[in-house]
Amino acid sequence: MSTIQQNLQDVRSRIAAAAQDCARIPEEVTLLAVSKTKPAEAIAQAIAAGQHAFGENYVQEGVDKIQYFAQRPEGAGLEWHFIGPLQSNKSRLVAEHFAWCHTVDRLRIALRLSDQRPAEMPPLNVLIQINISDEQSKSGIVLSELPALAEAVAALPNLCLRGLMAIPAPEHDYQRQLATFGQMNDAFQELKQRYPQVDTLSMGMTDDMQAAIAAGSTMVRIGTAIFGARDYSHTTV
Ligand SMILES: *Cc1c(COP(=O)(O)O)cnc(C)c1O
Repeated sequence: MSTIQQNLQDVRSRIAAAAQDCARIPEEVTLLAVSKTKPAEAIAQAIAAGQHAFGENYVQEGVDKIQYFAQRPEGAGLEWHFIGPLQSNKSRLVAEHFAWCHTVDRLRIALRLSDQRPAEMPPLNVLIQINISDEQSKSGIVLSELPALAEAVAALPNLCLRGLMAIPAPEHDYQRQLATFGQMNDAFQELKQRYPQVDTLSMGMTDDMQAAIAAGSTMVRIGTAIFGARDYSHTTV
């Protein structure tokens, strides 16, 4: 078994254990494999180990991989999620190629994504990104802006509002991780009450997946624990 296959098994076990620790069903937590900067061969190994949902941060790199796997038998049934910061001038590529976008944080981007979504594709699944640690440098809206943006996004014809996403500031203390993720879950539960199609709370990465799951995450985005450390020196996008 390859390292990536072994890593995937380990991550799945960690997810299952974290879910069981808080009396949740492991199947409630989807594993998104974050493959940014990693080559197609690494993704192919993950596919061979049964992984089908992948997250990419850089638009052109993601589109290249989507197109590569679209032509290969092992690429059937893959689901691609855009999880990076999105600039207006790149929105068309996301609308035309991805199944999900986790980083909607302003109406202007949502409008463009909806306008640019091809008619023959299903609606683009979107998550609203929350700047839960209220960091100046981070993308995402503050929670007080959520009701208005959610209402506007939910009304767009070619988008399906599925929930919320957050990348909290790095924090090593488990209780503090839990408190931050708990705020996200409160907002998520409220959103679900209003919009029945909302079912996804995207939070938790390699270093904080356990607290995220304990706080109610339904989708963890894991890169390093599956593919190893990233090397950005060759990244051009
Ligand atoms: C890179 C990235 C991840 C994966 O992080 P790891 O710590 O490598 O698991 C998850 N979410 C987003 C938005 C990312 O940019």
